[in-house]
Amino acid sequence: MHKLICLLCDSQFSQAVTWSALFLLKPDEKVCHSCRSKFKKITGQICTLCGRPQSVHAVCRDCEVWKSRVSDSLLLRQ
Ligand SMILES: [Zn+2]
Ligand SMILES: [Zn+2]
Repeated sequence: MHKLICLLCDSQFSQAVTWSALFLLKPDEKVCHSCRSKFKKITGQICTLCGRPQSVHAVCRDCEVWKSRVSDSLLLRQ
């Protein structure tokens, strides 16, 4: 877990250590979980990885790029 400050409400929140966070390649989450769930209610659609509001409920472009980069580097290491 590491501490982050929410861009929207300035509250401190922890980023869970996830599979993605372990690689440290993923940009830090910028909003806390409660703000993110508010986004969810407003927009209905968020990126399934970073929680960014968007028009479709799927992985956003940035995360797609990030994911392919991670799998590329994993393949190189094997
Ligand atoms: Zn917040
Ligand atoms: Zn995303």
